Amino acid sequence: MPTSAEIPLLGEFELIRRFFASAACARPAAGVVQGIGDDCALLALPPGEQLLVSTDTLLSGVHFPASADGFLLAQRGLAAAASDLAAMAATPLGFTLALTLPTAEPQWLQGFAAGLDVMAKACGLALVGGDTTRGPLSMTFTVLGRVPAGQALRRSGAQAGDLLCVGGALGDAAAALPLVLGQTSSSAEIAGPLLERYWTPQPQLALGQALRGKATAALDISDGLLADCGHLASASAVGIRIELERLPLSAAILQLLGQTRARECALTGGDDYRLVFSLPPGELASLQAAWPEIAVIGQVVAGTGVEVVDEDGQPVTFAHSGFQHFGSTHG
Ligand code: ADP
Ligand code: MG
Repeated sequence: MPTSAEIPLLGEFELIRRFFASAACARPAAGVVQGIGDDCALLALPPGEQLLVSTDTLLSGVHFPASADGFLLAQRGLAAAASDLAAMAATPLGFTLALTLPTAEPQWLQGFAAGLDVMAKACGLALVGGDTTRGPLSMTFTVLGRVPAGQALRRSGAQAGDLLCVGGALGDAAAALPLVLGQTSSSAEIAGPLLERYWTPQPQLALGQALRGKATAALDISDGLLADCGHLASASAVGIRIELERLPLSAAILQLLGQTRARECALTGGDDYRLVFSLPPGELASLQAAWPEIAVIGQVVAGTGVEVVDEDGQPVTFAHSGFQHFGSTHG
């Protein structure tokens, strides 16, 4: 184990070599002709496939507490970025990491690299390059994926009459945020599963791929269900009706917040990284047979905007319309 006395001696190239170039996630992988070590990564795309690229930056003090554990941070950062690949039905290919660090702290870097390995393996993503600089802690993940030409799912394409579906329980990560920030505490039984959803969201990559040729539009929930459905509605030029009582909620969030606040969290909290998608009704049964966690939460309708209705079909309004209710840690 390196000691802190070594820090000043740990130069940029030594740091890259020790923690990233030699990481398990940087090993030779399918489609990677040249990974870390040259000026560019060189990737091979099967004939007839298109490349998907998405970048996400996480800033200390904005997207995560400055004291955050490196292991958890790496997992969460890569998962959040990979979720964009899931949303567009990509097969994961690789990622780059631009890391800015105030100090080269070997123990922190070791944890960070280990967390990166865990999530990269879970996602099937190879680390193919990056950049390392000194400054306030921030990390930028650029993820790369591939899809047969024309089969990427987009935010546009939803049709009136489609079902509105989500890939699982909502609101857990937003409910965990006050726990993450130390503003509140709870029993391990309740806090455990919520914190897990915050720190290690599981990008729905396999589900995204299963939606190719089935869903008419999709995106992943990062800003909150209402806000993200608003993006889908405007890109598809349709209206969306969400039925309040159909929102899937975990046992933990119900125990922590009760039904009313849990529903509000599911609608307006961010960081779910679940897929939300529009689906012709005839596609539901076969998909749900393979993915029982898929929940129908409403419909695509003619019109514009997003409406939430109660069990009597009456519109419901919320005092808090967006993620700001849950603090300033979202970007
Ligand atoms: P250049 O000067 O050509 O931009 P660098 O010296 O920044 O190259 O990086 C050397 C090699 O290490 C490159 O292949 C780059 O992609 C890789 N690299 C740098 N930082 C990281 C990192 N944090 N994670 C993974 N690869 C990295
Ligand atoms: Mg460079």
